[in-house]
Amino acid sequence: MAHKNVFVRIWEAAAGLLEGFYTTFIHLFRKPITEEYPEYKRPLPVRSRARIILTRDPDGDERCVACYLCSASCPVSCISMQSAIREDGRRFASWFRINFARCIYCGLCEEACPTLAIQLTPHFETCEYDLLTLVAEKEDLLVNHGGKNQDYNYYRVAGVIGKDGKGAHLKEAPPVNLKSNMP
Ligand code: SF4
Ligand code: SF4
Repeated sequence: MAHKNVFVRIWEAAAGLLEGFYTTFIHLFRKPITEEYPEYKRPLPVRSRARIILTRDPDGDERCVACYLCSASCPVSCISMQSAIREDGRRFASWFRINFARCIYCGLCEEACPTLAIQLTPHFETCEYDLLTLVAEKEDLLVNHGGKNQDYNYYRVAGVIGKDGKGAHLKEAPPVNLKSNMP
C-alpha cells in the first residue's frame, strides 16, 4: 500500500482539528436548551424501553401463556414464573415475578414473547432506595389493556388445546391424514 504524502497527512490532521473547533465555535451562538427535570418531563417515544408490563388481549384475558421464553432470553435472569393450565385449556402464569433491580431494560423479553404479553413502556421513573421494593409480582405488572398492540389475540390465531378440534381455528389448516399420504 502506498504511503500518503506527509503534507497530505498534515492537512488531514489540521482539517480534523479545524472541524472540531468550528463546531465548538458555532455552538457559542446557539440558544441553550435546558429542560428542568422533574418539573418538565419530556414525552418519550412509545417504543422507549423502561418499566415492564404484562398486557391483556382484547377480550380482557391475560396474554401470557407462561411459555418461559422471556425468562430464557433474559440476559440477567430477572424473570421467573410458574406455569399452570386453566380448565378450558389455556396456559397462564400462576405467579410471575420480575426483579427490576437486575433488569437492564434490553427489551429481549419483549422480542421473545410470542403473545405480545410482556412489553416495555416509556415509564422510567422507577428508582427506589430499598432494592427489595423493586421486585414486582404479577399483580404489580398486569395491566387492563393491550399496550402497544391493542387488537392482537394469540389464542384466536393459535387456538386452545381441548376447546375446539384441531384445524377449527382461524387460519388453521385441517390436520393432515397421514394414512392418505401413503403410497
Ligand atoms: S428488559 Fe432485558 S433484562 Fe429486563 S427483564 Fe427483559 S430481557 Fe430481562
Ligand atoms: S410473557 Fe410472553 S414470553 Fe414470557 S412467559 Fe408469558 S407468553 Fe411467554
